[in-house]
Formats: sequence, structure tokens, C-alpha cells
Amino acid sequence: MIAAMRRVPALLFALAVPASAAPSAPAPAGHRLGTDVVPVFEAVRLTADAGKPDYTGSVRIELDVRKPVSAFALHARDIEISTVSLTGPDGAVEVRHGSGERGRLDVTAPAPLRPGRYVLEIEFANEYDTQATGLYKVVVGGDSYLFTQFEADDARQAFPCWDEPAFKIPYELTVVVPEAHVAVSNTPPVSDTVKDGQRTVVFGRTKPLPSYLLALAAGPLEFVPIPGLSVPGRVVTVKGASALAGEAVRTTPPVLAALERYFGRPYPYDKLDLIAVPEFWPGAMENAGAVTFRDTVLLLDARGASAEQRRLLVEINAHELAHMWFGDLVTMDWWDDLWLNESFASWMGDKAAAEAFPEFQTEVASLEGTQRAMNTDARLSTRAIRQPVSSLDNLLQSADELAYQKGQAVLAMVETWVGPESFRRGVLDYLAAHEWGNAVAADLWNAVSKAAGKDVAGVMETFLDQPGVPLVTVDAVDGARVRLSQRRFANQGVTPPATAWRIPVALKYETGGAIRTRVVLLTGPSDTVTLEGPVAWVHPNAEQRGYYRWSVPTATQRAIAGGGQRVMTVRERVGFVGNAAALLDAGALRGDEYLELLLPFARDPEPEVVSAVVGALGKVKRAFVTPELEPTFAGYVRRLLGPALERIGMERRADEPEAVSLLRPQLLLWLGRDGHDPAVLARANAVAAAYLADPAKTDASIVGVALQLRALSGDRALFDEFRRRLEAATVPADRERFLSALGYFRSPELVEEALRFAAAGPLRPQEMFEIPQGIGTSVAEEARPYRFMTENYDAIRAKIPPMFLVFMTHFATGCSEDRARDASAFFSEPPHAVPGTDKEMAKVAEAVRDCAALRSREGGAVAAYLRRPAP
Ligand SMILES: [Zn+2]
Repeated sequence: MIAAMRRVPALLFALAVPASAAPSAPAPAGHRLGTDVVPVFEAVRLTADAGKPDYTGSVRIELDVRKPVSAFALHARDIEISTVSLTGPDGAVEVRHGSGERGRLDVTAPAPLRPGRYVLEIEFANEYDTQATGLYKVVVGGDSYLFTQFEADDARQAFPCWDEPAFKIPYELTVVVPEAHVAVSNTPPVSDTVKDGQRTVVFGRTKPLPSYLLALAAGPLEFVPIPGLSVPGRVVTVKGASALAGEAVRTTPPVLAALERYFGRPYPYDKLDLIAVPEFWPGAMENAGAVTFRDTVLLLDARGASAEQRRLLVEINAHELAHMWFGDLVTMDWWDDLWLNESFASWMGDKAAAEAFPEFQTEVASLEGTQRAMNTDARLSTRAIRQPVSSLDNLLQSADELAYQKGQAVLAMVETWVGPESFRRGVLDYLAAHEWGNAVAADLWNAVSKAAGKDVAGVMETFLDQPGVPLVTVDAVDGARVRLSQRRFANQGVTPPATAWRIPVALKYETGGAIRTRVVLLTGPSDTVTLEGPVAWVHPNAEQRGYYRWSVPTATQRAIAGGGQRVMTVRERVGFVGNAAALLDAGALRGDEYLELLLPFARDPEPEVVSAVVGALGKVKRAFVTPELEPTFAGYVRRLLGPALERIGMERRADEPEAVSLLRPQLLLWLGRDGHDPAVLARANAVAAAYLADPAKTDASIVGVALQLRALSGDRALFDEFRRRLEAATVPADRERFLSALGYFRSPELVEEALRFAAAGPLRPQEMFEIPQGIGTSVAEEARPYRFMTENYDAIRAKIPPMFLVFMTHFATGCSEDRARDASAFFSEPPHAVPGTDKEMAKVAEAVRDCAALRSREGGAVAAYLRRPAP
């Protein structure tokens, strides 16, 4: 699974991907199903007319009774069970059944069962879910559809099953739908027959799968073939949307081929369907052979898609397809290794995307996520990535930036240390040893350790089993000797517990005019290393492959920064900008020094470096910019970003690199919205007008931002026009553009109107937060998103998947301690205190405290710097 967006502020990130919690109590006894009676095969039959509110079904599960027990349990949550029957070696067994905790279905026989093969048959009825969970119903354009989202433990609310990842068995699904509907599942159908207005589709038996990877889509679906794959492939859409499949059809084969080359084995399943789902909370979900996506991610108008949208599709698709081997072919034994599933898919996905579409620079772009993970890890409210799962309330609450981006960065660090070929050999050995089955993280480390002849487990454990991020300091001793030391990185005013890591430190240094690199394993608090000859400078994180913060003496830092492109690669320059923000948080860099330091990086010829500077502005704005300071901040934004826009121009050139097309809208947004640059605003207004007149004639990459900037000065008539366009849009991305722009109208009356529309307009649940988010980018309105959330909590609760409720706490993110206090109270009231909320709230509260402390510490220096006349 993956978030819908990568380059997003914390709030949206949290809403799109579950964020973290730190379970502390030991696992409740008996919270997992027993292994005395296990399934070996399950046939599921559903009579599922999407036009109705409910469905009926039956399952036939072949069991292996391993020990003579008289009771066993499986899962069936909120399902109306009509009959349960059990047949064994001695014929029918009279069983009783009852509901247990957390969707358990307990089955009891009058006497111990003789070990052997049994068949359990259950008939049931249920209502479709309507909150994008389990087997759920969606109505689009008057037509009803069914889709599924089962991860982590929601297959059990669709039909009875052994709903834990270690129960990996073949399934056989049969669905009976109205004749006019078609159905898609993990495997191709083996028969499709129509009788009396009903269509019966029998799908082929699956390879062994955990229940969370099963999928079903049904309704008046459309299909577009994907030629050029090693298996039959299709894009699957709702009625009328198949014209938007082109970009997915074009970009999927090279990505899948890159993965097949890396894994040295073909795609493991019989076919590949990519299914566009209109109501969907994650960005995408890796169901084996039937990957589901948010429609806004998968369906792009070939001419009207921006560079950002096209990159996002490639990135997300690559992540999901990497799961086909890592997660699906080999599955984690239990949810405590969910992080490995996700971090490996992110690491592998970016690698495959970079190979198939190097123009998107995914391996540079991924650094933004690493920085976000290190920011989280700088706080005491962080957690170790790998922890026992002790609460079953929300198994995906731990799928946060640590599980995805920290894990990805740690894997990349180890790969650099042992060498890519050794790492790959270890991965392939691991897949071969566990194919079609389950594994734990240690199985992978052992395989990589063996292939590389290095103690990989020893390094991994220090990064996985303890919280935090190390700070590596490098000081010159004399001549060729340097001293490396480590401690836990912390923001100023915080004393973290002493922690030690085994860190592969990649040093880059200059000696005798030559630039060299060397990896040193730092295992103790400090170590002295002798390099090849006297060094001019040492950069402690070559290629920015290490998961650590770093610090060097001021003179060295100046030498590195001053050396620019001669000294640092693109990744290193992007990493430098991120590391500088951390040094600001730690009190090692003053606010005015930080702002001054960003200037040369904003003039970097590499768009990704400028993009990192744009990202840094978000932090500056949140921490320091008050309404009084806005005009002077506007001047700084123009001074910082103006030259970059001047260099790349406001007009797209036909042959320009994708990276330039990705950067331009970011520059336009900041220069227009925050820099109040008249030329940018005029250009945006012209683009918006041209787009409204004829969408085909404008640069798709800047249309979204042009609409946002146009809205800033927009009146009631324009607001109504945008709303009308949103409701009439047939391309999901168009709808998204107008939706987002509605959050940029600034007259008080239209702000109110937009918020009313967000709460009660004809929006899909996952669209509810887009408008408040946009309104919150106004310095004067930064408190509005939180108020929106509290005022509409009940309506939100009724619409969104229950597991996402804990992330409503992230609406209190920002720099206001008053708001954080209010939120703490709000989320401790029983109606708002869903399990896990306290842990999310603790994270938010600490981030807010850090922001407020930074503001009071550096606000004066920043304001003085901003007010200084431009040189
Ligand atoms: Zn994933």
C-alpha cells in the first residue's frame, strides 16, 4: 500500500497513509488465531448485485486438524451467519458457533476432533460497507460498483476466513452478478456464464495468498489492454473512463520489465489488472494480480496530465509492482514486519522507476521522504520501526514515514555498504527460499549477510530496534586523521537517552586535489580514521546514502557549500539543504544564517536542488511568518526564487527536461501566492483564462497552480464557475485541480462558502480535506483547517474509513501551542478518542512545541534578516 502523495505536508500525508503509534503493552494473550486447525484451501461464493444494499455468500474451507482439539476460531466480523457445518473423516460433526472479540468466529465441537482433513462450510449474509473498507459499494454516474480494500484485517468483514498473513492458501472465488455487470479478481476467470439475467463468474484458483491481498471489482466496468507485459494485462475503469488509461498502458511495461530484470525471475502471477477506484483512501494497494489505485493516480488524460501526475503514477505503480515479489510472493509472517514490506517496496520501486524513467529522478526525489522521516525521528515521541504488535485496534497505524521512508533509507545505506550486487544476491536467495510462503525480517538479513560476508543484521538491528536518528560529527585531528563521533540527534532543548548505532559512515573528502570516498563502520561513540593524505574537507554523508544527520566545523561546512557542484553531487546538495534545516532545529545554525545559506542553493542549475529549497520555505513560513511579516517574507521569496524562474522561464519549452517541468509549478506557486510577484500572477491569470476557454491549449504542468493563483483574487462568479467545472469534470485530474483551487479564494465570504462545500458538497470522502488544506496555506487562515475538522467531526466520522480517524489529530499541526492544547482536550473526549489517538496526539503536540520553541528562539533573527534591505 502507499500514500496518494509523496511531496505533501504532514497533514495530507497522514490522511493518505496511516501514521505511527508506539504500542507499549505486550500482545494480549490469544490475540492470534491458533495453529491446531489451519485452512489449506478456501472457496468463496458471493451473490453480489451492486445495485442492492446487501449480499449473500458461502465459503467452503478445507481444514487440516493437526491436534485433537474441540474448538477453533477463524474470522467473520459483523457478518450474519446462517449455517455452519463441519464434515470430517468420520462424517458430519455437530458444531456450535459464536462471536468472539475482534471479529473472531468460534467453532466448538462436542468432543475433540480426530486429526485429519475436514471441510467447514458457512452460509452468510451481509450489507456492503459504504466507507471504502472491506467489500464496499460506490455509486458513480448513477451506476453501482463493488470494490474491496482488505489490508490489514478487513477481509473478515467481507466473508469468513483465516484473516492473518501467515495463513497463505489458495482461494477460489465465484461471484454471481447481474448480467450487465462484469467482475475482476486476482486470477483470470475459468468460466463466465449467463442465465436468467445473472452472470456467474468462476475465477481460477489463486496461488497461495494471505486474505489481505484478495480483491474483487464488479459493475459495468471497462477494460483497456496493456500490451508488452510478460502476462496479459489491462487497465480497469468505471464506465466511460477507459479513454484515460493511456499513460498507465504506456508506462507499466518498462517498470515491470525493470523489476523482472532485478529479481531475475518473471512476474509471479498469471495476469495483471490495474484497477482505477473512484473512492479509495490509499494511493494504491498491491492485491496480487489486481492492483487497485485511486482513480486520480491511475487515470490521466494523455495531453492534460502534468509532469507531477505522470511521475506520481510511475512511482506508485513501481511501488505496488515491487510488492508482487516482496509482500505477495513472499509475505511477512505477522504485522510487526509490515515496515519491511513497505520499505522494501519503496526502495525497489524507486530503483525500478529510475531505471525505466530516469527523467523523473525518483532516487533524488525520494530524499524528501528521508528528510521527513529524520524529522520525525528527531523527537522523543518517535518509535522504533520494528516493535511487537500489541494492539489490534489499528494494525496500519504504524505504516508511517518511518515504516516507508526510514526503512527505505536504511536499506539503501546497507546496500551501499555491502555493495549492490551482494545485496541483490541476498534478496534473490531470500525470495527463492521463501517463495509462495512467509518470512521474517531476520531471514532477509541472514541472506544478505551470507551473500556479502558482512554482519548486516548487527547494523540493521541498531536502526530498527531503537528509536531516533544518529548525529555523526567529523572533526579534523591532524593531516590525514579525522575523528568520527556519534550521538542521538535531538532538537534544541531536548535531552534524548544515550543511544549507539553501528553506522556505515560514507566519507567523501578532498586530498591533493582529488575527491575520494570511503565507508567506515562506526560502532562505538567515536573513532579516529586515517585517510589517504591530508584532507581539505570531509563530507560525512557521501551520496546522501546514510540514514544520519551530520555536522562538521563551520569552516568545513562553508568549504563544502562553497564548492557547490564541484564538491557535491545532486543528491548531496539536496541532502545538504535538508541537513541545514535539522541544524537549525538543533540550535546549531541561527535563523538568519539558515535563510542566507539557502540563497546559493536556490540558484543551483539542478531543478531538484531548487525544489529542496522550495520545500525548506514551507518550514520557514510555518515557523516564522506572521501576518505582519508577510510583506517582507514576500520580498525574500522573490529574491530567493525569482532568479530560478527567470532561468527556466514561465513558458514550457518543447524539449525541456521533465525535472524543469516539475519545478516550474512549484516556483510559480510560491512566487505568486507568497511572493506576490505581479508578473507571475498575471501569467497565472492568463493561463487560467486560456484553460477555461480550451483545456487542450495550455501547459498541463502549470494549469493546477494557475487555477490556484487565479482564485486568490477571484470573485463569486469565478468561484461558481470553478465549482461548476469540478462537478462536470470527466477527467479525475481536472476535478482535482478545480477542487484544490476552491481552497485558494481569499474573500472571507468565499472562504466560508468553500468550507461549507467541503463539508456538505457533492464530494467523495477522500476529497473533504483538500479545500481546508488550501485555505490553511494563507497565513491569516492557518487555524481554519483545525476548526473545520472539529466543527465537522461527526460528518467526517460518518464518511471516512474508521482506521483513519486517529489522524484527525494532525489537523492541530503547526506552531500554535494553544491549538495543540485544545486538540489534546478535544481528542480525549470519549466521542473523539478512538484507540490510538493519544499516541498520534503526542506526536503532534511535540512537533508543535518544537515549532513554537524555534519561533521564540530564532524569530527575532529571522525577522531582522527579512527586514534587511536587499543587497
Ligand atoms: Zn506498499
